Amino acid sequence: MNFLITGAAGFLGSALANQLAREGHQVRGLDDLSTGEPQALMEDVHFTRGDVSDRPKLWTLLQDVDCVYHLAARVLVAESLLYPREYNAVNVGGTVSLMEAMRDVGVGRVVLISSGAVYGDQQEQPVNESVHPQPHSPYAVSKLAAEYYVNTIGALWGIGTAILRVFNAYGPGQHLPPAHAPLIPTFLRQAVRGGTLVVHGDGRQTRDFIYVSDVVRAMIAAATAPNINQEVINIGSGEETTVRQVAEQVLQLTGNRGEILYTPRNDAGVSRLCADISLAQKKLSFTPRHSLTDGLQLTLERDPRFKS
Ligand code: NAD
Repeated sequence: MNFLITGAAGFLGSALANQLAREGHQVRGLDDLSTGEPQALMEDVHFTRGDVSDRPKLWTLLQDVDCVYHLAARVLVAESLLYPREYNAVNVGGTVSLMEAMRDVGVGRVVLISSGAVYGDQQEQPVNESVHPQPHSPYAVSKLAAEYYVNTIGALWGIGTAILRVFNAYGPGQHLPPAHAPLIPTFLRQAVRGGTLVVHGDGRQTRDFIYVSDVVRAMIAAATAPNINQEVINIGSGEETTVRQVAEQVLQLTGNRGEILYTPRNDAGVSRLCADISLAQKKLSFTPRHSLTDGLQLTLERDPRFKS
């Protein structure tokens, strides 16, 4: 098949692009390299640097494409509190531009990578796709708005759509920005340097951590699965893990006898979040293959930044 991946030089985009290329598909990648790194892509991936809102560029890149994966986005929840306008422009505006270009060219299918962050605080855990989202941040709002645009424009113009709400993905190659970096690579970096792991809050907040190759398998299944038009599907491990447990596991795996420091800062996010993955199991035949321990071990082995 012919694919276009937006955000292809990013953490999830590059893992997806490389796997599709390995499987013999034709893969085009678009990324503005605001955070992405093109060297993460195999040579077989045809990479173009550009903005996801650049419709003339999209018109060219979309020729003969069977399915688009839309991952280009600003992705840091905490950063989105400071720059909501930018999050809206890229995550919402970029999505609308892409959908318009797909309509113009007549592309048949798009898979949007959305986020478990759209759920916000939910009483019932694990969360299933039918609950009312309670987004807490401009990032979460922008992902939810993108979902509505994709499904609405898709229905108007006969473009098949699937929305994957990915929970906390981690693995080799995850971007580690100087500020607001994601939890697992931050802990791993600290631990291999023999440093202290800083946990915001008491560490009892829970998340659903999913290893990158499991996310890639779900994304690939979504390109061809039947009967998923307009569906919103959770992609997680289905396991609820406390931040404290993650920190302890990281220390154990790295052999670091360092400390975990709990700060009273009130930026720990929602108290619980875990995916109900029964719809993914039913619609995409999706079952995660990697436990957290296994995924952390693979990340340590495969990501040169975490060599002690
Ligand atoms: P990432 O930052 O590594 O990837 C995003 C990519 O988009 C980057 O390479 C960046 O350069 C590119 N980009 C940003 N703005 C762009 C623009 N205007 N035009 C073209 N490219 C642009 O992050 P990621 O973790 O790989 O996330 C990929 C997607 O998955 C995002 O849509 C994110 O919301 C979603 N997601 C990620 C997770 C996770 O845990 N990693 C969880 C849920 C959802």
